Amino acid sequence: MATLLKGAQAAAALNEKTAARVAALAEKGIVPTLAVVRMGEREDDLSYERGVMNRCAKLGIAVKPYLLAADAPQAALMAVLEEINEDAGVHGCLIFRPLPAQIDDKAVRAALAPEKDVDGITDASLAGVFTGSGVGYAPCTAQACVDILDHYGIPLEGKRVTVVGRSLVVGKPAAMLLDRKNATVTMCNSRTKDLPQLCRQADILVVAMGKRGAIGGDCIAPGQVVVDVGIHTDEDGKLCGDVRFAEAEPVASAITPVPGGVGAMTTSVLAAHVVDASEKAAQ
Ligand code: NAP
Repeated sequence: MATLLKGAQAAAALNEKTAARVAALAEKGIVPTLAVVRMGEREDDLSYERGVMNRCAKLGIAVKPYLLAADAPQAALMAVLEEINEDAGVHGCLIFRPLPAQIDDKAVRAALAPEKDVDGITDASLAGVFTGSGVGYAPCTAQACVDILDHYGIPLEGKRVTVVGRSLVVGKPAAMLLDRKNATVTMCNSRTKDLPQLCRQADILVVAMGKRGAIGGDCIAPGQVVVDVGIHTDEDGKLCGDVRFAEAEPVASAITPVPGGVGAMTTSVLAAHVVDASEKAAQ
């Protein structure tokens, strides 16, 4: 039976550290502040926003919402980003994506000040993940994959890690962060041949494929650690991941459940990034 790698436990440990940092900032009269930019009322965005608001409130981080209509023009969003970039009282910015079709996502990503890019959407942040330059931040979900392994004391150095997925939001930055921990990383994409074999050869398997239940028992090796980033809803309306949990859990040594795994950590990682940005701004 596999150990469950629970996001809530890893998040609690991170939150404790973040709360101490917030208290230290409060002594200097600084309240870490996150701008949240949302266009329209997508249920996914609203649900994540509630999680972010809740987490920030518990940690003493202020949230400044910037809400635009789903059909607002590019210029309106750019004006909001300019305001956020220039506001010294705002330390971080979360923009809900995907953005509506009339918005040029690339231009938006380029417009945000990298030092406020707490969810790793700018090229500067992604370059920072690549080079370790300390500019910007890794995307929160990618960071959460590594943090959850760290929290449970799962060693990465010298380990073979297979990452399924290469999106800029999860797979690619997760692979880079794991590489920086001296893991030997294989990154897979939709054209990868013999995926099950590449999955089985890993000590640690990170799945960010966006395909419900696509990874089954044929991809899991005995003793493997499995991090499932996928979030889906099954036929019964229950949340599930990219990995078929019932097949993987008896074989793996440890696995993140869905829900309650990586997804349960992301708002805590975001909060930690906001506090980090506040500390840097105060220096
Ligand atoms: P995405 O943009 O759709 O990327 C999926 C990646 O998987 C792509 O790189 C794709 O390859 C690769 N892929 C697809 N089929 C494959 C196959 N048969 N073999 C190998 N690779 C394959 O998805 P994403 O944004 O990275 O998100 C991945 C999952 O994580 C989704 O389920 C999403 O809901 C979830 N997610 C969770 C959180 C959280 O907080 N837990 C946050 C964000 C996302 P190509 O590049 O070749 O197309």
